[in-house]
Amino acid sequence: MGDGSTSRRDTIRHNQNVLLYSGVKFSAIGSLAASVVLVSTFDSIVDVTMAYLWMAIVSSIYLFRVLDSYQFKRDSSAESRTRHWSTRFYWLALASSAAWASSIWLMFPADHPAYQVLLVLTIGAVAGGALASLPYDNKLSLVFQLILFLSVEVKLLSVSTQFSLEVALYSLFVFGFLISCGSKVGTNYLELLRLKQDSQDNNIALIKTTEQMAQMGYWQWKIGSKSVDLSDNIAKLLGHNSNSISIKHCFARVHPDDKHIINTSLNSIIENEQSEETAIEYRLSLADDPAPRHMRQLIKRMTDTDGNLCLFGSVQDISAIKKAEQKIYNMAYYDDLTQLANRAHFHEHLERHTTHATNTSQNYSLIYIDLDNFKGVNDSYGHECGDAYLSAFAVHMRSCIGRSNFVSRLGGDEFCIVLHDVSDRDQIKKIAQRVLAFCDQPIWIGNHCIHPKLSIGIAVFPEHGDRPDLIVKRADTAMYYVKQHGKHNLAFYCESMDQDATERVRLEADLRQALADNDFELWYQPKMDVSDNSVAGVEALIRWRHPDKGLIPPDLFITTAERVGVIKEIGEWVLVTACEQLKQWNSQGYQLEMAVNISSDHFATEGFTDFVIDTVATVGIKPSDLEVEITESLSRDPIAHTQICHELRAAGIRVAIDDFGTGYSSLSVLGKLEVDTLKIDRSFIQHLPDDTTSRLMVKAITDLALGLGYECVAEGVETSEQLDFLKNLNCPYVQGYFFSKPLTTEEFIPYLVKTLDQQRAA
Ligand code: C2E
Ligand code: CA
Ligand code: CA
Repeated sequence: MGDGSTSRRDTIRHNQNVLLYSGVKFSAIGSLAASVVLVSTFDSIVDVTMAYLWMAIVSSIYLFRVLDSYQFKRDSSAESRTRHWSTRFYWLALASSAAWASSIWLMFPADHPAYQVLLVLTIGAVAGGALASLPYDNKLSLVFQLILFLSVEVKLLSVSTQFSLEVALYSLFVFGFLISCGSKVGTNYLELLRLKQDSQDNNIALIKTTEQMAQMGYWQWKIGSKSVDLSDNIAKLLGHNSNSISIKHCFARVHPDDKHIINTSLNSIIENEQSEETAIEYRLSLADDPAPRHMRQLIKRMTDTDGNLCLFGSVQDISAIKKAEQKIYNMAYYDDLTQLANRAHFHEHLERHTTHATNTSQNYSLIYIDLDNFKGVNDSYGHECGDAYLSAFAVHMRSCIGRSNFVSRLGGDEFCIVLHDVSDRDQIKKIAQRVLAFCDQPIWIGNHCIHPKLSIGIAVFPEHGDRPDLIVKRADTAMYYVKQHGKHNLAFYCESMDQDATERVRLEADLRQALADNDFELWYQPKMDVSDNSVAGVEALIRWRHPDKGLIPPDLFITTAERVGVIKEIGEWVLVTACEQLKQWNSQGYQLEMAVNISSDHFATEGFTDFVIDTVATVGIKPSDLEVEITESLSRDPIAHTQICHELRAAGIRVAIDDFGTGYSSLSVLGKLEVDTLKIDRSFIQHLPDDTTSRLMVKAITDLALGLGYECVAEGVETSEQLDFLKNLNCPYVQGYFFSKPLTTEEFIPYLVKTLDQQRAA
């Protein structure tokens, strides 16, 4: 973990020092041995005192150098004091060179040419020894050898003994060779040291880059010490300038909830001899980033070069990986539109929570919610509006329940709430009613006004089932029960609903079969002109002739047909059959109007107008003889439905609002409706003429309808009093059991003939 302040040159010089000092011991042994041999050989021909004195000087210098090398080794700051040590080494080396050089002056045997050669050879050997002990510094070895060489040459040339000139000449060759050799070896060694340093530097740079790229760092802690050594990258991550940091500071940045993870892992690896490494993940708060970072750390127990027990940790910032994991998790577990938990998440949660509740003997409840007529919103106003509607509902749901509960969107317009540990019916009901309160006010999406309605089913664990799938099924059963029995309400599951549900499933299958087998038939209820009690037209009413159950009225299957999506096929069959019937009656000479009921689901589908217009043309009836009845709630949508009505009327086909008075038409839109007829709902006629409110309502509707130029039909007239009351109001048409119940095709013509006869008679 370099601290950056040590320059490359210093590092090289330090490495040089290490190598130079490592050779001191051997050169000392060599020099001492050589000096002993020399003195013992020369003691008979030179001044003995002088010889021993010289040997003592050489020995002391080398002894001193050996001690110096020990000191160097022990100096922990040697790396930063390279100049100091290299200068010391330099002067001591030169001192030993000078000591050897002095030998030729102190012990030159003037009368013994052979000894002279021996002395020169010994000094030459010392110079050669520099090749072995000083090759790491070419300048030093050069000066070392030069001192010896010059001393030998000057001495030999200054005396004129036998062969001294020849020896000086030979020495010149030998020393010349040694010096040039030393210089070359030195240069090469220095180059080698530089190369080695460069490669180390490159490795460090490579490691640093790798650290940065992999978002990695590492640390080392000598067990028991107060500080931790950090790599540059991890120091940077922690916002520290120094590569050493106190343990306390290290922990200060760990997320409070994760501190125990680090403590446990450190303790376990310190105490447990068996485990040599351990991997953990934790969060770290960084100096410059408030969002915690996720770190993965591998800790290894190792022994350092000095034999101390150390922990070595490599740390990687895995925040990006975590983020990606989180994204994948969100995609897999949350609904994109509402940000609520999705179906998969819901099932997983319920499974887990059921296990928990079973183990702890707790209860919980499940609220199953379905938006009524969501499909209608989607079809009429478009999917964007439908999406906004769902989002608004999701926001409302979140506000209804506490944080400890679980809300999810199962798909489409179905939602579920899990109320953890809640089984008290009043409490559940309160929450469910808060959800229902969504419908208290209309919501505006762009310029569309939606009156939300929803159905809620509730099941309680373990009272209604001890398995998650059973609880879901039962809450769903309760929800469908609500839908079948008037919608927009809530109900707790009870056993009798199962019967209902089984029948519902069978009904769905049977409906599709009925379409295939042509088991539907149309009955016709006459519409009477009150001025002369003549048949002005008929309303086609569907019946299902079930192979086992006999005749089934429309109230028992139209809602299901709408829900399972066969209503369009049924509606088309009704339209074609009714038109063909009318054509047949026309060809028999009877002029009538034909009214056909169209479900709101069907009315809003694409291509509806084209289908009606085509049918009229293909069958060949007068367009104005056909009236399409739609329920009042539909006409609340200003634009989409007005457009359909407009297209139908432009083709000459009439449009009626069925069950008028039960919906929400405001008086302000009444004048602008693209319709021809208003059919006053039976509920108003029923209590005529005694009930004051009914009287006032019917009078108001009739006056308004006639005043605005609509045709008016009163439904469900059963008594002559009711008929008289309506006659007084000038209501032109009525329908009801007073005249006739719906009739089969076979029954209708005789009825028609009978009325014609009565008319003629009157
Ligand atoms: P609606 O359109 O209001 O039809 C009138 C219903 O009132 C008919 O019931 C009819 O038999 C009944 N009714 C007529 N006069 C009287 C009366 O004086 N007293 C009483 N108590 N009832 C009377 P039905 O045929 O059972 O039809 C029920 C509903 O089913 C219809 O109400 C209509 O909304 C729907 N429906 C019938 N046929 C079709 C169809 O072909 N397509 C669609 N989408 N819906 C249909
Ligand atoms: Ca009708
Ligand atoms: Ca009606």
